Amino acid sequence: MCPVVVSAPRVYTGFKPTRLVEAFLAVAGRVVYAGYEAEALRLGRLAAEALGCRLRYERLDGVVVPGFVDAHLHLAAVGFEAGGLDLRGVGSLEELKELVARERERFHDWVYGRGWDQDELGAWPTRYDLDEVSGGKPVLLMRVCGHAAVANTEALRRLGLLGAEKRRPGVDYGCDGSPTGLLFEDEAWRAYRVAKHSSDPVKTVLEGQRRLLEAGVTTAATMGADWHEARGLLWAWRSGSLAIRVRVYLDWGLYRAMRGAGFVPAGLGDETLRVAGVKLYMDGSLGARTAWLREPYRDAVHETGRRLLSRRELAEKAAEAARDGLDVAVHAIGDAAVLEAAHGLLAAGVRGRVEHASLAPPDVLEALRSAGARVAAQPRFVASDSWAVERLGEERARWLYPFRTMLARGIPLGFSSDAPVEPPSPLEGVYAAAARPGPLGSLSRGEALDVETALALYTRGSASVLGEEWLGCLEPGCAADAAVLAEDPLEAPLDYIPDIAVLGAMTGGVWAWRRA
Ligand SMILES: [Zn+2]
Repeated sequence: MCPVVVSAPRVYTGFKPTRLVEAFLAVAGRVVYAGYEAEALRLGRLAAEALGCRLRYERLDGVVVPGFVDAHLHLAAVGFEAGGLDLRGVGSLEELKELVARERERFHDWVYGRGWDQDELGAWPTRYDLDEVSGGKPVLLMRVCGHAAVANTEALRRLGLLGAEKRRPGVDYGCDGSPTGLLFEDEAWRAYRVAKHSSDPVKTVLEGQRRLLEAGVTTAATMGADWHEARGLLWAWRSGSLAIRVRVYLDWGLYRAMRGAGFVPAGLGDETLRVAGVKLYMDGSLGARTAWLREPYRDAVHETGRRLLSRRELAEKAAEAARDGLDVAVHAIGDAAVLEAAHGLLAAGVRGRVEHASLAPPDVLEALRSAGARVAAQPRFVASDSWAVERLGEERARWLYPFRTMLARGIPLGFSSDAPVEPPSPLEGVYAAAARPGPLGSLSRGEALDVETALALYTRGSASVLGEEWLGCLEPGCAADAAVLAEDPLEAPLDYIPDIAVLGAMTGGVWAWRRA
């Protein structure tokens, strides 16, 4: 690959340590020099001559930073959501119906949307509302929170919910005993998966990729990938259309199925796409009160959430995956879950990842540290977990997302978005980590990070959660993956950081996306 010199008024090779240079030179996708522009050009010409090709010279406006690394998101879901109808702010059932009628042809099979709120619509939608406008297609529209949905009659038929003898939890029934179309929690999620699986896997992956590049993300770990997503990724990669780097953490069921077929997926792929590990679940979520707590919920005094794995099960599974050369990522949100995840990994002798590690008071942090666990955290949750204080009470909520204490204790920490749960924008994450906005943040101001540290955690920090020290930096030896920003986040007012425009993103010295 021919050498390229990238220069801009400001080029940051990394944060903490932060180094500002004029330009970098990349050969064969790797940075070989970062410093003065004249020197980069001189070396670049030499390299070009040696390789027998032309030197490319990218002289940019704006601020070049290492491409952001998102250590935890759901790529296919990001793409699927991006292709769906945006129902936020829809003000009546009529408006909702018009939107479905107008857009339904755009969908190959299931018509999908998200964002309605019955308070704004003036009523709960039913399957009969959607039947009027569905043109025979299955329709599934998720409520804004993602814990409820409305499906039309064709969708209910495909989900096997019509004419069923037994009533199912999570399905709403009318006076006539038949489903109204409203689905809750597990049933809503089952319907979501069926709709998602009806989408074109490659298109979905590429749509997700576009969203990430627009946010300046050049590497993403997609967590709990199922067969539909894995197939989309493999096909996109094989056809050369994968422009970002993706690290795949397989859903346990998919890993077991591959294993059962005699195929060990560890190491499959290359520097662009790589199967990196497996994902396990220790508990649920705070929002649904299924995160596993040591003490009961403050707003449900008989509940402590749900434990999904025993210590022994976790240790056995972790050891099995590690023997196959795979990394182990354990979802753990409640303090009991984080503690058990640490103990289970320690028992297995596996230095794995803990995902979220949301409620982490000092003794839990100590357990994480002694297990040598890396933590993939989502700073945006500080802003959006507005009900966390209700769930936990002030005293416990102070220990939600204690990033500063984590760093002080020497716990390897990397940032991520968990998109589509949160928007995939790293700059929004950086802002949330530095400003700690909202009621939760005001309980734990001391855990706020400076912008420089937050940027470091969204580049080098998240890269080291992936065990790939060559990403998230633009020093010699690093991948030539960069994001171009319109303004310098280290100089912008804090509140403005989420609004800084991303102008382009490159991977391996090649443009993956540029703003038109
Ligand atoms: Zn997630």
